[in-house]
Amino acid sequence: MHSFNVPTRREFLGSLAAFSMFPLEIEKPELILYNGNIFTVDDAQPRAQAVAISRGRFLAVGSNEDILHLATAVTKKIDLAGKTVLPGFNDAHCHPATSGLDMVVTVDCDLPSIAAIQAALRARAAKTPAGQWVYGSKYDDTKGAEGRMLTRADLDAAVPDHPASVQHRGGHTTFYNSAAFRLAGIDEKTPDPSGGKFDRDPSTGKLTGRAADRANDLFEKFISDTSTRENRREGIKRISKAMARAGITSVGDAGDGPQDLLAYQDAREAGELFFRVYCLIRYEYLDRMIAAGLRTGLGKEFVRIGACKLFADGSISERTARLSKPYEGSPDYFGLLVATEEEQYERSRKAHLAGWQIGTHANGDVAIDQTLRVYERLQRETPRRDPRFRLEHCTQVNDSLVARIRALGAIPTPFSSYVYFHGEKMHFYGAERLKNMFAMRSFLDAGIRPTQASDYTASPFEPMMALQSQVTRTDTKGNVWGANQRISIEEAIRVGTLHGAYATYEENSKGSITPGKFADLVVLGRDPLRENPSTLVTIPVERTMLGGRWSFEG
Ligand SMILES: [Zn+2]
Repeated sequence: MHSFNVPTRREFLGSLAAFSMFPLEIEKPELILYNGNIFTVDDAQPRAQAVAISRGRFLAVGSNEDILHLATAVTKKIDLAGKTVLPGFNDAHCHPATSGLDMVVTVDCDLPSIAAIQAALRARAAKTPAGQWVYGSKYDDTKGAEGRMLTRADLDAAVPDHPASVQHRGGHTTFYNSAAFRLAGIDEKTPDPSGGKFDRDPSTGKLTGRAADRANDLFEKFISDTSTRENRREGIKRISKAMARAGITSVGDAGDGPQDLLAYQDAREAGELFFRVYCLIRYEYLDRMIAAGLRTGLGKEFVRIGACKLFADGSISERTARLSKPYEGSPDYFGLLVATEEEQYERSRKAHLAGWQIGTHANGDVAIDQTLRVYERLQRETPRRDPRFRLEHCTQVNDSLVARIRALGAIPTPFSSYVYFHGEKMHFYGAERLKNMFAMRSFLDAGIRPTQASDYTASPFEPMMALQSQVTRTDTKGNVWGANQRISIEEAIRVGTLHGAYATYEENSKGSITPGKFADLVVLGRDPLRENPSTLVTIPVERTMLGGRWSFEG
């Protein structure tokens, strides 16, 4: 048994750091969960049957006998009936604040056809006052029944009078109707801005409606702000509830500003925040944050300031990531870099010198190489102990990039579910390149600590899908992509729990079922370690616990 009140001398010495969080007198558990099949992700005690919980933390972990004898008259006891328990999952890179707001104010375009999207947009336009925008989100260009991309003409047919935009679920491309282009003053003669692209019909030169990466900046000042404080708080409530239902207890929100920090605090105060959040702050707010004396790590156990978020290139799901070799079938197309190395260096240096962790979005091998050069230069010029540089996504690597990541102690946050969920897009990259994409096997073999990440809305956040995708490297149609990068189910669980905590400097307070850590856990309907890997995605989440309280009960 591992416990706080009756430690062996060795355990006591081994857990002094955690021990100091509690008063040294005997503490009695408020809650005991017993009769469980508990996979702890703690090498000191990988398996257990029961846990005792007090003041939101694990007090003791061990056998039924050991733990039940700690109970007092006031201890509540719950029989898990043999159910499997894992530490709560950590989605290290996702976008809950914006996707929660989307749930409140946009039309959900995660629909099976362009016709269905048009119908949903038409219905919203009918209720939208003249002159106001109609927004759609979570559109995916490769999943529609028509087998083609949404066009400006499709949007004009559905929403002729209001400006309308439909954002791709990947977040880097948006589709606009003619009214939106008119409002922003963009037409066929408008040149592509640097780091951005307006798609044009190859025969007529006319705008197709699709704008990639920095091209969307040209619409920004014409877009009406629906992000009221109330909408944002409501969004956090909805998305954190949905994520708790899937077994998530911690997230990294990979692009926050002051309004998001406020929204998370509002939701927490209202009792409506159902996960712990590490808020990566967008670079544009860095000066203000530094001026206010803020930096990475500030905050409490539920809402903390995370890394400074920078960008190097485009997206994988929308095919704008910057690759060294062209996309399959497009011999001249390599994707987009969105910052020069010098720009990236100046921005990163400012954050680094102010004591911030840095998380740079870098998907393609060219972008990862550029980002590593910046990180390496910073450590050469102004070394910092344990900077835990993050490579957000870090999708396409090679042996030399992996060696440099290892040497820096940097942390990749690869897309965990892309092989499974975005299988129909993998041909744009090709089987050969897939051997080095979402390269979990390579990272783990090199001793690197990658995390689990959905980039939601870019892919679904359900951790069971992430487990299946990483263990099988098989998509929904049965195609296998990069079998050499498969990892074991035990490894995938560790990646989704303890590694996520490490990426935010919180490995001593969460990420495993260990005495002294936050009582964050998930109860599953079946045991993933005994499940056929091809059905992991169907394992039901029965309950989720956050800090000793159920954040979801099925
Ligand atoms: Zn992201």
